Amino acid sequence: MSAQIINGKQISESIREEIRSEVRELAEKGIRPGLAVILVGDDAASQVYVRNKAKACEELGYHSEVIRMPAETTQAGLLGMVERCNADPAIHGILVQLPLPKHLAEKPVIDAISVRKDVDGFHPVSVGNLMIGDDALLPCTPSGVIELLKRSGHSPAGKHAVVIGRSNIVGKPVSMLLLRENATVTMCHSRTPDLPEIARQADILVVAVGVAKMVKADWVKPGAVVIDVGMNRLENGKLAGDVDYDDVAPKAGWITPVPGGVGPMTITMLMANTLKACKRANGIG
Ligand code: NDP
Repeated sequence: MSAQIINGKQISESIREEIRSEVRELAEKGIRPGLAVILVGDDAASQVYVRNKAKACEELGYHSEVIRMPAETTQAGLLGMVERCNADPAIHGILVQLPLPKHLAEKPVIDAISVRKDVDGFHPVSVGNLMIGDDALLPCTPSGVIELLKRSGHSPAGKHAVVIGRSNIVGKPVSMLLLRENATVTMCHSRTPDLPEIARQADILVVAVGVAKMVKADWVKPGAVVIDVGMNRLENGKLAGDVDYDDVAPKAGWITPVPGGVGPMTITMLMANTLKACKRANGIG
């Protein structure tokens, strides 16, 4: 029997429906969530991501500002723009689209974003709060993974979760969130020996490596829940995950497809973070 699909599009849409209803309630109080997206230069992929974020804002009734800055923007110029957004009461969330052009350093820019408006969850204070279990704006893709699990009936509590990948944007935060949800967590990376052996012990296997179709059926325990964060563009132009879907699906219990799994959750969680930041700024919730 083939695995059941965890449908990221459907789950993402139901979260958006919840957001819409909160936005309507806020509108009655004269409050509107606002997101600023700063894009430096003309990277083609970044243009698409930024457009999708603006579209999501429009659909949900948010105030949205896309601030396009030329590729030759200086560090001081970019920091100045972040400061302007920090001070703007109509803006509750600030996102600087990464990667930045090579002459600009990312860290000072992330550090300059007000923690209260850090809807990407990359600021060191947000990361620290996540680590110690305090309330924080959580990074979008990792919190999307947790929502997918919970909303498909797979509470991580008491489960053995194996995470392959330890990046600051996916692997590490998703591991921390799984721990917070009372899973027993094993973190793996490129220096982990016997990776398939460890992966086979997982009740929940989260894969975020950036290697197309790396995880095969013999890495997976029968009935396991497999969450594929990977997004790799194949030579034929198609998108593939880090999990070999056709090979693994007959063995897993549940699996996320690529596309249509984790992907749709990322922007939705960004919208949820912006709503949360807006409510906090207005002393609600
Ligand atoms: P990074 O390249 O930053 O990190 C990859 C991680 O995987 C590293 O920790 C690396 O280990 C580990 N790794 C790489 N190769 C292997 C291997 N052969 N065996 C075991 N571990 C390995 O990637 P990201 O975390 O940023 O992204 C991971 C994937 O998720 C990518 O496909 C990316 O496109 C996708 N992604 C999807 C998003 C979405 O919205 N759906 C959002 C963000 C990312 P080491 O640390 O030892 O080098």
